[in-house]
This record gives sequence, structure tokens and C-alpha cells, in this order.
Amino acid sequence: MKNRTLLFLFMLFTVSIFALSACGSGEENEESETAGETTEEESADSGESSEEEASSAESDRGVNLYTSRHYDTDNELYEKFSEETGIEVNVISGSEDELIERLEREGENTEGDVFITADAGRLHRAKEAEVLQAVESDVLNENIPENLRDKDNEWFGLTKRARILVYDPERVDEEELSTYEALADEEWEGRVLVRPSDNIYNQSLVASMISINGTEETSAWAEGLVHNFARTPKGSDRDQAKAVAAGEGDVAIMNSYYLGKMLNSSEEKEVEVGEQLEIFFPNQETTGTHVNVSGAGVTKHGPNQEAAVEFIEFLSSEKAQGEFSEANYEYPVNPDVEPSELLQSWGDFEEQDLNLTELGQNNTEALMLMNEAGWN
Ligand code: FE
Repeated sequence: MKNRTLLFLFMLFTVSIFALSACGSGEENEESETAGETTEEESADSGESSEEEASSAESDRGVNLYTSRHYDTDNELYEKFSEETGIEVNVISGSEDELIERLEREGENTEGDVFITADAGRLHRAKEAEVLQAVESDVLNENIPENLRDKDNEWFGLTKRARILVYDPERVDEEELSTYEALADEEWEGRVLVRPSDNIYNQSLVASMISINGTEETSAWAEGLVHNFARTPKGSDRDQAKAVAAGEGDVAIMNSYYLGKMLNSSEEKEVEVGEQLEIFFPNQETTGTHVNVSGAGVTKHGPNQEAAVEFIEFLSSEKAQGEFSEANYEYPVNPDVEPSELLQSWGDFEEQDLNLTELGQNNTEALMLMNEAGWN
């Protein structure tokens, strides 16, 4: 009886989450949430309940995947993995925080073996919630650069994105652009577009700057940046690009894959915006462009731990990396794999030399600093 009551309460909770997320569904589903979290990797089914059956892959030849990614190409890749290994992949979709909560709630009884989500800040949140475990794997250590994995090996980056600048070449000369830091200078007053501080991408960018420049300098920078905002931050990364194209501001900070998504969008307007804007990788002469990852971890209590490791190893492999990263116009993490043609056309770039674990470690401080600076 007790279990039934719990189940009922959970269903009630899920339904209310669904109702909340459905409110924003008129906007881009991947960035429309207002509660501070994006569910960016989702495609069509962003409001879907995460409480699906996780039991079909309980055998030792199965793996249950809790993921906030849903791409057809991912599923094709999972099938390839199954063909190769005989290990079935059972996909359970949900928003990232929903899935972390679910793992916490299920505890030792969880059937989730692998957790996949976007942003090192969120992967770190799962680590702090103690739902992941350390994995020692020569294959993962070989395939994934050290700075793109958790310092304690509790999560591993699988696809990489850069936080880039986009600008309208009609109004901005490329020569005017240099660093994130410079966007706080006087000449950019009223010209900078960026989304609100409740978004993890900006929190992670600021967290990286805390690591590189220190708290004090980053605070001063954030104040300068806020002073230079073209408008009160609102909307998604793509909305910032659209606002540049519409002349509301001159330069926007956004994740690189959104430019790929816009250029390949089914909406003509998005393609136009993507084509109108130019991409710029900031901090090339200094500390490198901020990068972040989508990544995976093996859950602490999943029933199929060996298969879970094998699965993540497969996703990091040369044969999987191209497809896995390309599904979201991201960069492969495996240095032996070339990025897609579109990404290659944007040119090579220097990356921040930073272990992404620090993005999670500095997250609270970053958010506080942003709020103090008046970054809503
Ligand atoms: Fe995103």
C-alpha cells in the first residue's frame, strides 16, 4: 500500500511538472524553461514524464539509460552498440534535474545504469547528489582528454560545445572583437546580448572566469557586462542571435551548436538569421574560448555496471564520436575524430585550459556573483 501511495504522489508530481513545462511550449522547446534550467537536448517531447518502465533491460545483457538527449541518430548508434555487444539499450528520457531527482529517490533500487546530460555544471550536480560512481577505464582515459572528464572520474564528456560570440558584420568589424572580458569595456555599452543568469551555460562561463581571473576580477567584469546589456536578459541562446539580427544589440554570447541548428532549421527565418551573422571565437590570443560538454556517468546503484562502462566507452570511440556529436552540431571530444564539415568551416580554435570539474565547483559562487552584479 505504501508503495502505491508513493507512486501516486510521484505521478501527481510528474503531472504538475508536465503542466509547468507545457506553459512554455510556445517557445523553442529546448530553451523555454523559466525555472533556471534548460532542457536543451530535447527535441519534440520536452514535457514527457520520465517515469517510464526501466525494467526491460535488467538482464546482464542490457543497460538502462537515463538521458536528457533524444535524437534519432543517437538511437541508431545505440542499435549499433547492441548489434556489436549483444547489450540492449533501454532509453528512459526526462529533463536533467528530473532524472537526477529520480536517481536520488530510487537510491539503491534504481534501474538506471547510465546518466547522460548537458553541461559539466549539471554533471557535477549529479556527482554532488551522490548518484554517480567513479569509473576506472583505460579506454575512456585514452579517448577523452583529461580536462573534459571529472577529476574523480564520476562523469565523462562525450560531446563538446564552445560558448561563442555572434555578430552582424554590417555593424561590427571582426577587429573590434577580442575577449569575453572586453565585452565589459565602454565601447560595448548598450550592445551586448546574453540570456538570463538562471541558465547553466552562463553560470558555467562565469565559473570558468572565476577559475581563470579570480572572483574579484570576475565580479567587476560581470558588473561591466551588465552595464553594457542591450536589454534586460530574456529568452534562449537562439533568441539572442535573433535579437542581433534584428538590430537590438550588436553582439551575442551563445553556444556554438545553436548556430548549426539555426543554419539547418526548418524555419526559414532561423536560417536567415544564421546566415546573416558571423561567428567569433573569443579569447584566442589569451585564455582560449570557453568550452563545455554533454557527458555521461555510471550510476552508483545501477544493476548493470559493466555494461554501463562498455556503453560509455563505445560512445567515446572513434566509430561513434562523429555521429554522436554531430546529432547536436557539437564537436567530438575524442581528438582522433574530425568535427563535421560545418564546424570545420568555422575554423580551429584554442580552448580554455581548464578542468571542467571546476565549472561545477564554482557554480554557486558564479550565480551569486551574477546576481550581485544585477544579471537577472
Ligand atoms: Fe543548449
